[in-house]
Amino acid sequence: MDYDILIIGAGPAGSSLAHKLRSLGLTVLLIDKKATIGKHACSGLFSKRITKYFDISPSMIENTIKGATFHTRNTSFEVKKEKAEALVIDRPKFDRFVLKTATDSGADILLNSHITSCHSTKECIRTHIMTPKGPQEITSKLIIGADGAASTVRRTLNMKGTLNYVNGILSYYPIKNTSELVELYYSPDTAPGFFAWTIPRGTRTEFGLATDIRYNHLAYFKKFLKRFNLRLTQYHAHPICFGNQQTISGRALLIGDAAAQVKPFSGGGIIYSQICADIAAKAISSAFDKNDFTKQFLKKHYEDKWKQKLMPKIELGMGIRNILNTLNDRELDTFFEMLKDQKNQIESLGDMDFL
Ligand SMILES: Cc1cc2nc3c(=O)[nH]c(=O)nc-3n(C[C@H](O)[C@H](O)[C@H](O)COP(=O)(O)OP(=O)(O)OC[C@H]3O[C@@H](n4cnc5c(N)ncnc54)[C@H](O)[C@@H]3O)c2cc1C
Repeated sequence: MDYDILIIGAGPAGSSLAHKLRSLGLTVLLIDKKATIGKHACSGLFSKRITKYFDISPSMIENTIKGATFHTRNTSFEVKKEKAEALVIDRPKFDRFVLKTATDSGADILLNSHITSCHSTKECIRTHIMTPKGPQEITSKLIIGADGAASTVRRTLNMKGTLNYVNGILSYYPIKNTSELVELYYSPDTAPGFFAWTIPRGTRTEFGLATDIRYNHLAYFKKFLKRFNLRLTQYHAHPICFGNQQTISGRALLIGDAAAQVKPFSGGGIIYSQICADIAAKAISSAFDKNDFTKQFLKKHYEDKWKQKLMPKIELGMGIRNILNTLNDRELDTFFEMLKDQKNQIESLGDMDFL
């Protein structure tokens, strides 16, 4: 056996799970198709819960956030907590930091390498990968698909799901912005199927949006930037998927965006991936104890557990997203006007990780 565990994808989900599994004494190989880690399109807006999972150094924090202003065409409403609710994190630094926790704990890493196929046998799972040195076969007890929204592991193992996709795009401008609020824009004319945003990042401002995949997100983004007298220069884009996904198979499980562990209301996935990495590490530890890597065992100890915890929130988020997607500008005005009446309740109860 080459490794106990093969993890495809060295993003925050794969790297943090690699670290947890190394702490259990398992041997781990991480592979990623990118040559360097830390170039992901992501706002890096995480609730303070992130500090439960990682030792976030001040050098990673660009700003702190107390709430948001929601804008529709003719109305806006502000939700603001007394204390900082979220951190604006430098995502490239964060990704490199999480990967370092994995490699420092002894996980091996192969960059510039991608999976081509895999099949499960009685003894192990055989995975074919393409590396800069040519094709290679890796044998492991278990494979983890942490390879993001367009997961190859999910497709290769034919795991079923009902997924919705939006395309996200963002850009940074050297406009100083130390506001404590993010600005969110809801209109089918601005970002059909999702929303647009600006995020204050201290010495710079982020502008971004996501649209349903049926629309041209780049064209909508250029139009959004025009509102602020900005022209598109460089940008980062990436799909976001959410819904209900099968996340286990014999000798295989999915985690993070590959598993659609994503909030449908905001598109955020980092905190859910960490909640699920804890559940996955426990399940994998039990699988090794019992030498049981069957679909049934992984379902009971991983999929059922994470779905029990997060699916009700994901379903609520899907419900709200589906309603918002059917509303025109006038109806969105009315919807957010109605929310204004619940402002105090939202401010006291609202938890950004569970919507
Ligand atoms: C525009 C935008 C803004 C966002 N903002 C936020 C935010 O503010 N807060 C938040 O919580 N979330 C945000 N998200 C979502 C967040 O980025 C994801 O939830 C998070 O990156 C998921 O982590 P992951 O490790 O599961 O997947 P990823 O970060 O996508 O990592 C997957 C890794 O797998 C690798 N890979 C893919 N395919 C293969 C293959 N075949 N072989 C080998 N390697 C492969 C990729 O190179 C990548 O490194 C945003 C997303 C977008 C698009």
